[in-house]
Amino acid sequence: MAEKLAIFGGPKAVQCDPGDMFVWPIITKEDEEAVLDVLRRRAMSGTDITIQFEKEFAQWQGTKYALGFSSGTAAIQTAMFACKVGVGDEIIVPSVTYWASALQAFSLGATPVFADIDENTLCINPNDIEHRITERTKAIVVVHYLGHPADMDPIMEIARRHNLKVIEDVSHAQGGLYKGRKLGTIGDVGAMSLMSGKSLAIGEGGMLVTNDREIYERAIAFGHYERYRENEIETEYLKPYAGLPLGGYKYRMHQMSSAVGRVQLKYYDERCAEIRKAMNYFWDLLEGVPGIKAHRVPKDSDSNMAGWYAPHGIYKPEELGGLSVTRFTEAVRAEGVTMCTPGCNAALHTHALFNTADVYGHGKPTRIANANKDVREFDKSLPVSEKIGTRTYSIPWFIHYRPEIIEQYAYAYRKVAENYKELLKDDPGNPPRLGGWHFFRHR
Ligand SMILES: *Cc1c(COP(=O)(O)O)cnc(C)c1O
Repeated sequence: MAEKLAIFGGPKAVQCDPGDMFVWPIITKEDEEAVLDVLRRRAMSGTDITIQFEKEFAQWQGTKYALGFSSGTAAIQTAMFACKVGVGDEIIVPSVTYWASALQAFSLGATPVFADIDENTLCINPNDIEHRITERTKAIVVVHYLGHPADMDPIMEIARRHNLKVIEDVSHAQGGLYKGRKLGTIGDVGAMSLMSGKSLAIGEGGMLVTNDREIYERAIAFGHYERYRENEIETEYLKPYAGLPLGGYKYRMHQMSSAVGRVQLKYYDERCAEIRKAMNYFWDLLEGVPGIKAHRVPKDSDSNMAGWYAPHGIYKPEELGGLSVTRFTEAVRAEGVTMCTPGCNAALHTHALFNTADVYGHGKPTRIANANKDVREFDKSLPVSEKIGTRTYSIPWFIHYRPEIIEQYAYAYRKVAENYKELLKDDPGNPPRLGGWHFFRHR
């Protein structure tokens, strides 16, 4: 009953018009009015709407403090500074993530040390952290990668034992849960992107959340000069410098973003619940199909996949006669799933910027500008990160629960996996590197 694969001239699995299935974020009159109100009041550069957004965000997040930023990159750099990551310090960060989980360490004179990921969660492997800790390690950056919560319990245990701070990069998983706890509230500080391609999408923007007053005040002091006031700061050593930003940065959120953010946040949980229902339905349809495995949390757990940002699947070529993910995804695309591409983020430790670049003129690679080590000492043994491009592929990001459409897309993957034998003979294999440095496809 095998149907002919579309790549060999058979009918495409996907015949429907997806309509607005993949249109995100959902923008209504309410978002438009909120932006127009900012414009009409000439309030683009103020902070009143942002402060309102921060209050609502902190309440939703369940933290004492939330601080708005111009980008996630700025929020994460600030989180590092707030955790006292400085000259000569090391941070441990997964190699498979977007660059802005790690690269800002350079600007602080610190060194990112990459840890491997777990091949099922695609998040930092808790068992690959401890042997990378040195007397210079200050913090662990955890990324809830592609919406999947990192395994926080063992990570927090290691961090507490070694007196390290934990920064959660929540850019892929706003509102997600790990064992019933909101992501971003488990470590010492959470920081995230809210830019338009992410699941909580408000325009260019970022947010830092914490329960720690000193971290919050250091975050204000670093890049929010207009809110760095001597009489409002409790941390004694920060008082003398009020009025000017310690970092020399200006990081406040654009109020068109915070205005959109206030509206988006109102509907966010309900929209994510529908996305999860749709995505879980897709994976349920593919349960047991050889070679393709869901990237999701176990069904009966009290963790979840948040807004299921940039969804991917795990690829097991050994179950498909060694068929390359390159050939597999080519066949799925031919079935009408145009967004199915191989790989995810490429392993950062393989990029020249982390190996040879002398960005600031230290006369040696910036990565070790303040370290007495060779770069090659850091990145030994990251086998999962190095081959993850051959073991992942993207899947559609279903925004709506519309079973008849989802079924066609799921059928495309099933059809290709079940007919893998026909694809083996023309398999070109994988190129030397799969996956990109970013998923930039935002308008
Ligand atoms: C997008 C992203 C960031 C950076 O956020 P921007 O708002 O684009 O600056 C940081 N970390 C991760 C994991 C991201 O995906």
